[in-house]
Amino acid sequence: MPDSRSIEAAVLSDYGQPVAITRVSLDPPQAGEVWVNMVSAGICHSDVHVITGDLPLPTPTVLGHEGSGIVESVGPGVTHVHPGDRVAITWVPACGRCWWCVNGQPELCAKANDAAVSGKHADGSTRLHWHGAPLYPFSSAGTWAEAAVVPAASVIPIPDALGFEEAALLGCAVQTGVGAAWRSPLRPGDTVAIIGCGGVGLNIIQGARIRGAATIYAVDPSPVNRQLAQLLGAHFVLDPASADPLAALLELTQDRGVDVAFEAVGDPDLIALTFAATRRGGTAVVVGVPTPNATVSLNAFAFPSQEKTLTGSWFGGSYAPRDVPRLIALWEHHQLQLAPLIQHRYDLAFVETAVQELQHHPAGRSLLRITHSSGVSRATSDS
Ligand SMILES: [Zn+2]
Ligand SMILES: [Zn+2]
Repeated sequence: MPDSRSIEAAVLSDYGQPVAITRVSLDPPQAGEVWVNMVSAGICHSDVHVITGDLPLPTPTVLGHEGSGIVESVGPGVTHVHPGDRVAITWVPACGRCWWCVNGQPELCAKANDAAVSGKHADGSTRLHWHGAPLYPFSSAGTWAEAAVVPAASVIPIPDALGFEEAALLGCAVQTGVGAAWRSPLRPGDTVAIIGCGGVGLNIIQGARIRGAATIYAVDPSPVNRQLAQLLGAHFVLDPASADPLAALLELTQDRGVDVAFEAVGDPDLIALTFAATRRGGTAVVVGVPTPNATVSLNAFAFPSQEKTLTGSWFGGSYAPRDVPRLIALWEHHQLQLAPLIQHRYDLAFVETAVQELQHHPAGRSLLRITHSSGVSRATSDS
């Protein structure tokens, strides 16, 4: 077996600590795994939730669950990608065999969920090590690094025409957002509202537009995000700082409420607002990820008397091998926009700055640029 190598990675040692660039050790891919030299990686609010401890997953960890790069090597049994291939990395490596995969909900794959919660690969070990101890990749990915060894199911080939930065967004933001709209009860001609227009919310707007929504309302406090919302398909944007969004949405729909409303923040108060903004017989979809113990208080009478539905969407109900090629085709035919989503770029060395700025001034999606000037050097010792 080839040697482990020393690589640079952004390591979160524990909740509340800064993310620090340090050298770690990465093992070669085993059966069913792929070594990818990273080029670009996205920063998602879920990464920030791990940093703050709101999403309690094992530490120390290498964060990042979307990205793109070039395959360097593959383990036994991997046939769909080869060394030199350009690929996107995603974060729900559906096994294809568990109850959820077999019954049509691969986004809820038991094995992928177990791996995300434990931070370990299917064999119970990790490929990453730091000071000789296990280092856990976020959601079997860990893309904030010079290289990642990931399950083959997380690796999707991309065409030469698609840039690495745009491809990185396909890993989480685009699949989650577009998928949430596509798998909601949204019908052509419907009126929809999206509460929260970050990387995921902006893609719900795109998914709703592609699905044929006639009227799209978007709510976000960031002027940049409201501008992007309009660019990507929203017909009306609302600033919650200047007007009560619920009152505005009801007024805009003759007090009826929208057909389908999406919450893309993960905030209990906004989930309640989203439900209240939905018309009788309509559906509110929670896409944003709240903290594990969060609860929501809702008017129970509305469920039977108004036939309202409140539902959730995990990863947009996506199955990457099916959905990423579809999304790429939509991008090729100019129906899905990717480049405008990218608002900030940071070198990997400035990851902590990128995280801070996302927390305080969210705008579209921020990307990490990963160069290999320091070399993905061959070494056997842990750093
Ligand atoms: Zn994400
Ligand atoms: Zn499965």
